[in-house]
Amino acid sequence: MSPRYCEVALPVPLRSTFTYAVPESFDGEPLVGRRVVVPFGKRAMVGVALAECDSVPDAARIKALTEVIDSLPALPPKLIELGHWISRYYLAPIGETFRAMLPPEIELREDRTYTITDSGHEYFRKLTAAPEIAGAESPEFALLKYFSEHESSTSARLHRRPHALPAAAGEALAEKFVRRGYLTASEVLRSRKTRTQKIVAWRQGTTTASAGGSAGILGGRSFSSAKTAARSAGALAPEARIREVLTAERGPLPLNILLERARVSRSVVQRLEKAGLLQTWEEPIAPGEDPWDTDFIPPANVLNAEQKVALEDIWRWIVASKFSTALLHGVTGSGKTEIYLGAIEAALSRGKTAIVLVPEIALTLWVSRLVRARFGDRIAVLHSALPDIERAREWWRVRRGDASVVVGTRSAVFAPLENLGLLIVDEEQESSYKQEEVPRYNGRDTAVYRARLEGAVALLGSATPSLETFHNARAGKYNLLTLTSRVQNRPLADVRIIDLREEFRRHHRAAPISESLRSAIALRLEEKTQAMVLINRRGYSWSLLCRGCGAVVQCQNCSIALTYHKSRQRLECHYCGFSLRPLKQCPKCRAEYMYFVGDGAERVDEYLREQFPHARVARLDRDTVRTKREYQQVLGAFAKGEIDILVGTQMVAKGHDFGRVTLVGVVAADLALGRPDFRAAERTFQLLTQVAGRAGRGEFAGEVLVETYYPEHYAIQYAAQQDYVSFFEKEVQFRRALHYPPFTALASVLMRDRAVENAIRWSRSLAACFGSFEKQGVKVLGPAAAPLARLRREYRFQFLLKSQRRAALGKALALALDFCAAKEIPATAVIVDVDPASLF
Ligand code: ADP
Ligand code: ZN
Repeated sequence: MSPRYCEVALPVPLRSTFTYAVPESFDGEPLVGRRVVVPFGKRAMVGVALAECDSVPDAARIKALTEVIDSLPALPPKLIELGHWISRYYLAPIGETFRAMLPPEIELREDRTYTITDSGHEYFRKLTAAPEIAGAESPEFALLKYFSEHESSTSARLHRRPHALPAAAGEALAEKFVRRGYLTASEVLRSRKTRTQKIVAWRQGTTTASAGGSAGILGGRSFSSAKTAARSAGALAPEARIREVLTAERGPLPLNILLERARVSRSVVQRLEKAGLLQTWEEPIAPGEDPWDTDFIPPANVLNAEQKVALEDIWRWIVASKFSTALLHGVTGSGKTEIYLGAIEAALSRGKTAIVLVPEIALTLWVSRLVRARFGDRIAVLHSALPDIERAREWWRVRRGDASVVVGTRSAVFAPLENLGLLIVDEEQESSYKQEEVPRYNGRDTAVYRARLEGAVALLGSATPSLETFHNARAGKYNLLTLTSRVQNRPLADVRIIDLREEFRRHHRAAPISESLRSAIALRLEEKTQAMVLINRRGYSWSLLCRGCGAVVQCQNCSIALTYHKSRQRLECHYCGFSLRPLKQCPKCRAEYMYFVGDGAERVDEYLREQFPHARVARLDRDTVRTKREYQQVLGAFAKGEIDILVGTQMVAKGHDFGRVTLVGVVAADLALGRPDFRAAERTFQLLTQVAGRAGRGEFAGEVLVETYYPEHYAIQYAAQQDYVSFFEKEVQFRRALHYPPFTALASVLMRDRAVENAIRWSRSLAACFGSFEKQGVKVLGPAAAPLARLRREYRFQFLLKSQRRAALGKALALALDFCAAKEIPATAVIVDVDPASLF
């Protein structure tokens, strides 16, 4: 046999793969797509084999891989191709790209059980009869001897080397025997049964005062003084850290996550639980768990004419088995989900598989139960909030072909389905499809590319498509399917713009919501229908301002104002988690005129309770709901009519279908317009249209009130008219004139470091390198301080690269990264973001 080598992608921030020699014990075993264990520096690392070759330069210095993990290659060939594309297109380190595509490494690997067959026994008898040929020392003999004595064994047991062979060799040889028919193999999942997890919560009402009461149990110190003492010492005591994590930062958390975040040991938690400060309970972690699932009867809808026409086209494309992309542009409430289900049916009927991507975890529940109700159990759900063990289980079910439909969030675009016929991307414009860490891919664009690789249909659905997608549809690159009306011809909600300047002139009051909105809500309470209020800012006040010097209290680590949270009595940074007690005195000028500016969801919630003391008010934002369960509880109660007014951040805007909502109020609708981002108008239009779509979905007509200081802004005007096409026409003019997507390929390059000198020096030297790209048709802007000039203690400088030719842009970025590597600028200091979702 000639020597074998393989290319392995390892999870390190480097843009190359590594070559390893393949030991002879793996002869006859294909390695491509399988995870392998290799020596890397002083340690062992898990990577994935991407290719094999039989010669390499400098073979003597090449190390050998030590283990092959999966018996079934984790990645089928098409996914390997997809990974290469992502790594190239997004300039992402190849190993980190592939790690994002692989199942969680919990080594819930399928344990193989091997059993000796009759012909295995016979062969062993032959070997014992002729020991001079077999060689009693040979590995073959040793392994067969072991099986003849034990009948069967698992791969895990083989790893423990009961037969005196090297761990990997035993398994490799067993596989060889399977191919020769001396052994049979079957898969068993080694189930580490953790079906429930322990959730820990800080007991409500145990503030510092009551905690002080249990000082005796807390080792003689009162809690509050322990805390202050620890503060001044620069580090918090374990108890204080737990409290910090469970109250200031988040809500109830699974025990293991709490231990990690608060950096405490289990015994501290047990002690506090005994002391009555912590409360714990067990929660199931099965993905199927869903309190609404029990009495779920899927709606039996008869498709209307528009839906039928759209679906007929989709059937044709799927039957044709050729790559194509379609945009399903349907107004809110036009019944797009019904079309998705029909499309899945088309794919399944041709023996193909399908992936459905949704923009957030909560929606996986809605969609997966519809799919399950219609097509049965051959469905898998994949998203990042599943515990690793569950996710791995689902992942391998898919890989083995036990599921034909996968519903999931962004990363489900990598679901290892074979024979893929359809990829659906619901709400394709959502920025949650963009991963904001390496690899910085966009799940929607990756879905389209994967469809191309697999000869499948990509179906992008939205009421408010991204400019890029609609532009592609207009240009004929994508097919366009349109649903112009709501199902059963329900009217779209009436949208009324409330000019806040006018309001102020009339009422001379600065209340958190306008008088018009307040009286509209009062009317709904009388009518006994429901109202939703969207305020896209968490907390009580946006910032704390000194009226003496005009300074805003900023985060210690980030260039951002701290948000005031009243219930917790903290000023908090929403980026890094830093927090402070509210200040009475300006830290800069010592004046005592601190003033809270801007009302957030918490304040609006409080105001509504004051105004309507008899109404049932609930709030939905990351401060009030922290778990999937709490989220479902609030929405479930709202759906059942147990809540009159639901206040919340954009969480309330998405997807859901409530029949009794007749009023939607949008407070501070123009918040996003002030952002220094070329997508500000697009995002505002999308959010307003989405939330307007929540009203009037049932038998009652709906009304939407939009509060703004810029009533003339086209994003607000067209959202009020729910006129997507006019908005598109207008916005696209700006994009063309200012050279932004979809007319220009755009990338952002960020240089960051804790030392501002480094960040500046590196940016300057990169600027010199970029200088040479202008001639190749790549326009470079910057370096300039990034809009968020400091984040988590790092100073940030930004370049924007624009080009009419994507290939030129990609080449420039690759050269820039080579340049940084040559200048020994740390790889982690440079962030390349191709097709950024936001420049902020
Ligand atoms: P969209 O995603 O386009 O906003 P949905 O798919 O959520 O809309 O559908 C809105 C509602 O209309 C759902 O309750 C759905 O069951 C219902 N629906 C869909 N198609 C029909 C139809 N042909 N006739 C009646 N109701 C329908
Ligand atoms: Zn911060």
